[in-house]
Amino acid sequence: MSDLGTRAWERAEPTTEDYGKPFMAEQLIDSFGRIHTNLRISVTDRCNIRCFYCMPAENVQFMDRKDLLTFEEIERFVRISVPLGLTKIRLTGGEPLVRRDLHVLVKMLAAIPQIHDIGVTTNGILLAEQAEDLWNAGLRRINVSLDALDPVKFKEITRRDGYEKVLEGIAAAQRVGFDPVKINAVSIRGMTEDEIIPLANFARRSGVEIRFIEFMPLDADNAWEREKVLFAHEIIEKLSQEICPLIPCPGQNPHAPATEFQFEDGIGKIGLIASVSRPFCMNCDRFRITADGKLRNCLFSLEETDVRGMLRGGVADIEIASAIRASIAAKKEGHEINTARYIQPDRPMYSIGG
Ligand code: SAM
Ligand code: SF4
Repeated sequence: MSDLGTRAWERAEPTTEDYGKPFMAEQLIDSFGRIHTNLRISVTDRCNIRCFYCMPAENVQFMDRKDLLTFEEIERFVRISVPLGLTKIRLTGGEPLVRRDLHVLVKMLAAIPQIHDIGVTTNGILLAEQAEDLWNAGLRRINVSLDALDPVKFKEITRRDGYEKVLEGIAAAQRVGFDPVKINAVSIRGMTEDEIIPLANFARRSGVEIRFIEFMPLDADNAWEREKVLFAHEIIEKLSQEICPLIPCPGQNPHAPATEFQFEDGIGKIGLIASVSRPFCMNCDRFRITADGKLRNCLFSLEETDVRGMLRGGVADIEIASAIRASIAAKKEGHEINTARYIQPDRPMYSIGG
C-alpha cells in the first residue's frame, strides 16, 4: 500500500512534517515520571510588608534591579518552555504588584496561545489600584494572602500596616470579575488558631475561597519549628466542630497542592495545603524561575540553573531548552522537611517566589 493513503498516526517513523512539533520525548519529565507543565515566575523579591514567616524584619538585601529578568526575557523563557509542555503560569514574588506595569507582562504572556492559565499571588495591598488593569490584560486567577481577620494580628504577622487595603483589594478583585478570589492563609500554632473560624466565616459570607497553608521552613529568620505548624487535620477538625462538617469536593485535580472541602450545608469551600504533614511532592508538576533568572526544579532546591546568564549570553533557544530539561530531569523525589536530612535553602521564600 502506498504511503499516500496512510494516516499520520499509522506511520511507524516520524516524517519531516513531525519535526518541530512537540512530542512526548520533549516534555519536562523527571526520573520519577512527573510531567512539568506549571511554571511559577517570580517578578521581584521586593515587598511592601514583612511577613515574619518569609522575610527578615529589617535590613533586607534586595536584588539589584539590573539583575531582574526583563519582561522580554521572561517572555522568551516562557516561549522556550511552551514546546516542552508548559501551559500554566503563576506570577509571584516578593510582592508581584510592586513590579511596575505588571499588567503589561500579563498581557504579553496571555497572548501566547498555549498558555491557558495565568494566575497571580499577591498580598493584596496594591490590588484595588491594579485589579481592573490586570483583568483587562487577561488575568483570570488571583490569590490574595491574608492570614488574619483581626487587624492587630495582621500587623503582628506582617510587621506593617495595610489590613484595610487588603480587604479593599479583595472587594475590588471581586467587583471586576475574578471568581472565585482565593485567599491564602498561613496557619501558625500559637498565633493564628483564633483566626481559622473568622476567616472561614468571612469566606462563607463573601464568596471567596479560603486555603489554609501549613507553615514551611522557608523563613528568612530560620525561626521555623515543627511545633509552630498548625496541621491541616487540626484545622479540618476545628472547622467541622465549630461551623459544620466538611466533605471532600468531588473531581479534585491531583496536581493541585490543596485538598478541597465543602461545608455540608453547601455554603463555602475550604482548601488545605498540607505541605508539611502530607507533602504532595509525588504529584508535583511545577518548576520555578526566580526574579534574577535562576531556574529551580523545586521550592526546596539546593541547586539552581543560571538562565539569566544564558538569556543574556547569546545562548540559542534550543540550548536553553536542553538546560531546562536537564534541570527537571535532576529533580529530587521530594522535600525532606520531615527528616533529619532537611537542609533549608539559602534563599528564603520571598527570594525564591512562593
Ligand atoms: N507577596 C505575595 C503574597 O504574599 O501573596 C506573593 C509571594 S508569597 C512568598 C506567596 C505565598 O507564600 C503567600 O501566600 C505566603 O503566605 C506564602 N508563604 C510565605 N512564606 C511561607 C512559609 N514559610 N510557609 C508557608 N507559606 C508561606
Ligand atoms: Fe511579602 Fe508575600 Fe513574603 Fe509576605 S509572604 S513578606 S507579602 S513576599
